[in-house]
Amino acid sequence: MKLITFEKDGRELAGVLSRNERFVLPVSSLGLPYESMQELICGLTAAERQLLSDAAAGQDGQGLPVESVRLLAPIPCPAQDVICLGINYMDHADEASRYKADAFGGERPYPIYFSKRVNRAVADHEPIPAHENLVDSLDYECELAVIIGRDTKNVSEEEAADCIFGYTILNDVSARNVQTRHKQWYFGKSLDGFTPMGPCILTDDEVAFPPKLSVRSRVNGELRQNSTTELLIFGVAHVISELSSGMTLKAGTIIATGTPAGVGMGFTPPRFLHPGDVVECSIEGIGSLTNPVH
Ligand code: MG
Repeated sequence: MKLITFEKDGRELAGVLSRNERFVLPVSSLGLPYESMQELICGLTAAERQLLSDAAAGQDGQGLPVESVRLLAPIPCPAQDVICLGINYMDHADEASRYKADAFGGERPYPIYFSKRVNRAVADHEPIPAHENLVDSLDYECELAVIIGRDTKNVSEEEAADCIFGYTILNDVSARNVQTRHKQWYFGKSLDGFTPMGPCILTDDEVAFPPKLSVRSRVNGELRQNSTTELLIFGVAHVISELSSGMTLKAGTIIATGTPAGVGMGFTPPRFLHPGDVVECSIEGIGSLTNPVH
């Protein structure tokens, strides 16, 4: 099923989409004690999950028409920074080191982990601010994001799938000039509005593990990225197992798994984003996330 967060009459509510995706049912209307997606992720029992799934399957034609609500990012204000994988597709490693070898080149026997502050995630169709006072090289990165479903510590790769709540699309918007002038990438990845996310969370039961999903992005309709999560260098199970060996991954943790080739810095000359451009990120089964640059 697909879960969304939406605004109705000034309240932010979690809801489940009907199978035909034309209606949304607030989970609170089904008798569940959760308003926000974070509460739902932390508290949802197996029986409640089944109830939601049944409601999604049986409620076509009922609930609120999707056009009557304002869609928000599925987790509008993450409880913690997003954990990101850097350089996690081989073809992106090649294009990044061509762009700036000192910043992106070299051997990497272990994953690159960095974090991304998200004061508020940007919803589908909301604008990405260009920050022209600070940024001269605005870039996009379409990524599969994993949502952790329960507090997770010391799990093996075999156990990792059981810790996943679902998946969403995350655009890891990046200011290349800011990202590379500082020793760490944090600032250049964390400007306000740099985390479009959504449009929904696709629950893990709908995705075979490990996920083998096409990942694509378009800028102004032109295909830029076209890959598959089968090509992740460090896969989802490895990442969850490795991180959880030393740190608790709290329920609601968002892990962005990295981006394939085709980002703006990968072109010669680079093709960065400018106000007026429209970026569309899409992942098989989840949908698409479209954002104009302002
Ligand atoms: Mg990224």
